[in-house]
Amino acid sequence: MTLLARTRTELDAALSTPPRGRRAVVMTMGALHSGHTSLVRAARELVGPEGQVVVTIFVNPLQFGPHEDFAQYPRDLDADLATLAASGSDVDVVLAPEVDEVYPGYPDGPLVRVSAGRLGQVLEGAVRPGHFDGVLTVVLKLLHLVQPDVALFGEKDAQQLLLIRRMVADLDVPVDVVGVPIARADDGVALSSRNAYLSPAERASARALSAALRAGAAAGVDGADAVRDAARAVLAEAYLTPDYLTLVDPTTVDEVPSDHGGPALLLVAARVGTTRLIDNMAVQVTDPGETHR
Ligand code: AMP
Repeated sequence: MTLLARTRTELDAALSTPPRGRRAVVMTMGALHSGHTSLVRAARELVGPEGQVVVTIFVNPLQFGPHEDFAQYPRDLDADLATLAASGSDVDVVLAPEVDEVYPGYPDGPLVRVSAGRLGQVLEGAVRPGHFDGVLTVVLKLLHLVQPDVALFGEKDAQQLLLIRRMVADLDVPVDVVGVPIARADDGVALSSRNAYLSPAERASARALSAALRAGAAAGVDGADAVRDAARAVLAEAYLTPDYLTLVDPTTVDEVPSDHGGPALLLVAARVGTTRLIDNMAVQVTDPGETHR
């Protein structure tokens, strides 16, 4: 049976009997889809039937810019509870607090926040100033409230996952961070709550993001520049101008040079209509110079 907690007190009561196994948390902003339920399923697999799975549903105002979609972001707790129940993943506790419960006195506070540093200012952070400070602040708070042994995050938000790993390492947060592969629709589009904003024509254009990543990954044998060129060509064909399309070192998110050989991450962000979508794919890159040396 899933217990619903709307307050810290209800959460403490729901968690008062310690699990016989480990406790896992999956943090979400709701509007749940099968990308989220794949995280919940992975959480249950990790902790086993004796463990405890906690799902948080909270649209965090700190991570939205003043002109972003905080007010419009889809909120439907009953639908989310039904999605979790239908997923069959056996969630123990859902924490769905109001903003004031998480940030008493908001918007006058919280005064002290987590700073994502240099990694939070590039790519998504360059387009969304302060976004990752807001993400890390709520993640740290929710980790303190839930006190999990393990926290699962989607590889869909690759920069976010990297920053959460860095925060946990840099601030000695006692939790294991686990990344979960991207769940995609049959047409290749990465599942996202924001896909609900797309018109049918925009949805068709959105396919170009994952198609570009696949084309880029397939060109990995011809080197880093070939990856970038192949991906860019697919976006251009769909008349999409990306906010960024970049092939990076997965641990630093620095653009890799033309002679890079080894693993890399191809990241894309683009506006389709008024909806901003992101996606990424791991790419194995061969240094083209290698074959000539
Ligand atoms: P959100 O509700 O968008 O904040 O996402 C909550 C969590 O679900 C984050 O860890 C996301 O990375 C993850 N997530 C969202 N969409 C997907 C997806 N398509 N595949 C895997 N994980 C996802």
